Amino acid sequence: MNATPNPGQAAPKRARRWLLKSGVALVLLALAAVVARSFFFTGPYRAPEPLPEAKLLDIHCHTAGIGAGDSGCFVSPKMRDSYKFSIYLKSFWTSRTEVEQQGDALIIKRISERLGQSRRVGAAIILALDGVVNAQGELDRARTEVYVPNEFVAREVARTTNLLFGASINPLRKDALERLAWAKANGAKLVKWIPSIMQFDPADERLTPFYKKLVELKLPLLTHAGQERSFTHARDELCDPQRLHLPLKLGVTVIVAHIASTGANGGQRDTDRLAPMMAQYTNLFSEISSLTQINKPGHLREALTRPEWRGRLLYGSDFPLINTALVSPWFYPLHLTQRQMRDISALENPWDRDVELKQALGVPGEIFARANGLLRRSDDGNQNERLE
Ligand SMILES: [Zn+2]
Repeated sequence: MNATPNPGQAAPKRARRWLLKSGVALVLLALAAVVARSFFFTGPYRAPEPLPEAKLLDIHCHTAGIGAGDSGCFVSPKMRDSYKFSIYLKSFWTSRTEVEQQGDALIIKRISERLGQSRRVGAAIILALDGVVNAQGELDRARTEVYVPNEFVAREVARTTNLLFGASINPLRKDALERLAWAKANGAKLVKWIPSIMQFDPADERLTPFYKKLVELKLPLLTHAGQERSFTHARDELCDPQRLHLPLKLGVTVIVAHIASTGANGGQRDTDRLAPMMAQYTNLFSEISSLTQINKPGHLREALTRPEWRGRLLYGSDFPLINTALVSPWFYPLHLTQRQMRDISALENPWDRDVELKQALGVPGEIFARANGLLRRSDDGNQNERLE
C-alpha cells in the first residue's frame, strides 16, 4: 500500500466540493420551489365535480399501422424513420418487431384490452385517417404520410366490444359520397379529418354535396383545427376554424378538436377565431383532447373558463398521446396538491390518468358525459347499447 500523499488526491477533493455545492444548490432550489408554490398555488381551474357514474365515451383515439398483416395502412419512409414513430408504437404497448410479426390489428386489440381495464372510460372511437388525394380524386400515396383505411378500422373494432369506428374520408375523393354511405353502413359514429394534412379546404364550395350527405346520414364531423405537429409537414391555414362556415350553415354537426389550440391565422389565435362562432351556430361543438399536454399550457384553463364554450365541450383523450411523456400530473404543481399529483401519476391505465387529471383540474361532469348524449342523438340506434 502506498501511504505517501498523492498529488492526484486534489481531484477527488474537487469532486467532493462540487458534489457538496450541487447538493446545497438542489436543497435551496427545492426550498425555493416549496416557497414559490405556497405563494403561487391557485388550485384547480374550476371547483372539481364528481365524475358521472356511467363509464365515459372517448371520442378521439388514434391507431396506427405499417401495413403488416395486409391492413392496408401505411406510413411514409420519412415518418417511419422519425423518432416519433417508435414513441407512438411504444405508447400502443407494442414495438415494430411485434407489429411486423403479428400484424397491425394487434394495435387495435391492445387498445381494446387496455381500455377494458379502465375504471372510467367504457368505450372509445378509433379514428381512421385518409390521405392526400390527386387531381383524379384518388389516393396520392407519394404525398400521404400516414394512412389508416376505413376498412381496417371498421373490421378490427367490430371484433371488440368497447371500440367504435371513426371514419375518415378526404372529401375530394371521386367516390367520397359512396365512401360516406359505406362508413355509415359499417357502423361509423363520426367522420374525422385533418384538412392541413389531407390538403383540402373545408370552405371549398365543391364539398357541398359531401356536407349534405353528412347531414342526411346524421354523421358528425370531427375536424382538426389549429396547428398540427404530429406530422413532418402541414398546411396549417387549411385548419383555420373560419373555414368551417360552409358545413355549419348546411347543418353539419361539427366538433372542432381541442378548441383549435396552438394555431394562428390572420394574425389571430385559432382559438380566438373559433370562440365567437359558438354563439353563431348551435351545431358547433369542441372537445378537450390533448389540452393537458405540456406544449399546450393554459389551454385547459381557457376551455373551462371562457363562457363561449359553455355547454359545447366533449371528452376526448387523443390517445396514444396521453400515454407519452407529453402528459403528466406533475406539470400542474400550482393547480394540484402533491398528493393528487402522486396519486394520479400512480394510476396505471392511461384513460384513468387522463380522466382523473382533467377532473382534478376542474373538468365538470357535463363535459365528461356529453359525448354519449351527442353521439346517441346522431345515431340511428344500431349501436346504442355498445355506448353504454
Ligand atoms: Zn388527435
